[in-house]
Parts: sequence; C-alpha cells; structure tokens
Amino acid sequence: AKAEGRRTHRFFVPEMDASAKARLTLEQDLRQALVNGGFEIHYQPLVNLRTGMVSGCEALLRWRHPQRGMVSPAEFIPIAEDTGLINDLGDWVLRTACNEAATWPLHVRLAVNVSPVQLKCDTLALRIAGALAASGLDPRRLELEITEAVLIRDDEAALSILHQLRSIGVRIALDDFGTGYSSLSYLKRFPFDKIKIDRCFVADIDADSSGSPVIVQAVVNIASASNMTTVAEGVETEAQREMLRTLGCTEMQGYLFSKPKPAAEVRGLFGPDDVL
Ligand code: C2E
Ligand code: CA
Ligand code: CA
Ligand code: CA
Repeated sequence: AKAEGRRTHRFFVPEMDASAKARLTLEQDLRQALVNGGFEIHYQPLVNLRTGMVSGCEALLRWRHPQRGMVSPAEFIPIAEDTGLINDLGDWVLRTACNEAATWPLHVRLAVNVSPVQLKCDTLALRIAGALAASGLDPRRLELEITEAVLIRDDEAALSILHQLRSIGVRIALDDFGTGYSSLSYLKRFPFDKIKIDRCFVADIDADSSGSPVIVQAVVNIASASNMTTVAEGVETEAQREMLRTLGCTEMQGYLFSKPKPAAEVRGLFGPDDVL
C-alpha cells in the first residue's frame, strides 16, 4: 500500500537527488551502528612541550561501516548533529572514554569533543556527571573541547551549561581557535581553561616569511595573561615542535608524536605510572 501511495504522488513529490538518498542511507546506518556497536574510539596523545611527557589524550570517534570501511567523522558527525543522534552518540563516547581513562596513570587527562548540539540539551551536565561517577574518573581529569560555534549566537543557554560543567570540576577547552570570524571575542564570553590553536597556524610555523609564528606568540601571550594553557594541533615536524616550544606553547598534538590509536596501543606511549 505504501508503494502504491508513493506512485500516486509521483508527480507531486520530487524525486530525492542522489546526495539526499546517500545521506538518508547513512542516517539509517548510523542508527544501526549505535545499536550494534559499530563505533570505536581512537586516542591521540597530547604532549607537554617542556617535559616531553604525555599529558592527555583526545578521544576521536571512529565508525567502521560494514560496506564502506572507515567513515570519517567529518562526514558522519554533521549528519548525527542534524538528526539529533549526536546526543546518544556523544553519551556513548563520554561513557566509553571515561571508563578507559579511569585506567590510565593519574597525570594523563582525557579530552572529549562536545558538539554545539549537545550543549543545547540542559541535561548534559547531569549526564556527564553520571559518566564520571560511573567510571570513577576524577572530574579534573576530563577536558571538554568545544568550538566557538557554540558561542556564535550569544547562546545564553549554552553558556549556562558550560558554567554548570565548570562547577562539576571539568575543564573546558576552546577547539580550532583562530578559524572562526571573531575568535578573540569568545575568550571574553567564557573563561576557558585551554586554547587549542588550529593546525592551519602550525602548518607554516617553521617557514620564515609567514605570519604564523607571530600569531601563535600572540595567542600564547593572551592565554598566559588569562591563566589559560595552549595546545598546538597538527604538529608534524621537529621544526614545528621546536618553534612551538620556543614560543612558550604548553602542549602539542599531532602525527609527529602519534596518530590517534586504539586504546590498547596508546597505553604504551604513557610515561611511567604515578608511583608516589
Ligand atoms: P578536531 O577535534 O579538530 O580533531 C583533530 C583532527 O585532526 C582529528 O581528525 C585528528 O585525527 C586530526 N589530526 C591530528 N593530528 C594531526 C596531524 O598531525 N596532521 C593532520 N593533518 N591531522 C591531524 P579526525 O579524527 O578525522 O576528526 C575530525 C573531527 O571530527 C574532529 O576535529 C572533531 O571536530 C570531530 N570529532 C571526532 N570525534 C568526535 C566526537 O566524539 N564528538 C564530536 N562531537 N566530534 C568529533
Ligand atoms: Ca577536538
Ligand atoms: Ca581541533
Ligand atoms: Ca576541527
């Protein structure tokens, strides 16, 4: 009867184009994967530039699609956001990553990406507190990474949720810093603990004629004047690492030290366990 109905309306309902169809299929596959356990988390170390020790790991979501293989989060996160699936998916990431991080040495923090869509839900702080309690992870070891998209519309609700999260004891990092329109103004609107300098500023930091070293220096100065730390993303060369260290950046993250790895492999990169 359904097919019959569709046929009746064929002159009124425009055919979906190929990309809309592909998207709908991906959406259905995402729902399936959430039920059937098709996701995994890889962890990428953050390294303290002064000590050379791993100071944390960022949880990065991976989707092993039954037919298509690994699908990039850049492709499926936007769909999960549009459909609201990001809330359940985000909860799964938080619970799974907190459980994992609770087994790490105490000096290794966990960073988790939180979508602007998740920050619209007023039970987020409660659910994060739940994930922390269930895992036994100290809230001070959890760092939430948010992008400035959250603050773009002067979203009071999102701001109040960020303050709730802060009061639980978790740290808040501003992700992809410098890629938006007026990043500096966001630093006034919320007291971040950390600024993540986007990899576009890191890419040419070791080339002489570019302005990136000057920009990174300015961000480091602003951060230290406001009690924030800095992490440079996408560090791929020794020269970049050396320049960032000289500029006073706190941490680095990138392929130079390690790509994101499965939980079992990333453990081998941690320094000696806290013995004291
Ligand atoms: P992001 O938060 O900016 O994460 C950093 C991305 O840079 C990751 O891509 C990482 O694999 C990649 N990367 C790290 N080091 C290097 C390097 O040295 N060179 C280069 N070229 N790339 C490097 P990935 O894993 O594909 O994730 C892409 C984006 O998807 C993330 O960007 C984040 O916005 C989003 N994402 C990933 N996992 C989650 C999640 O659990 N929740 C949410 N809401 N978003 C997520
Ligand atoms: Ca991130
Ligand atoms: Ca980033
Ligand atoms: Ca990004």
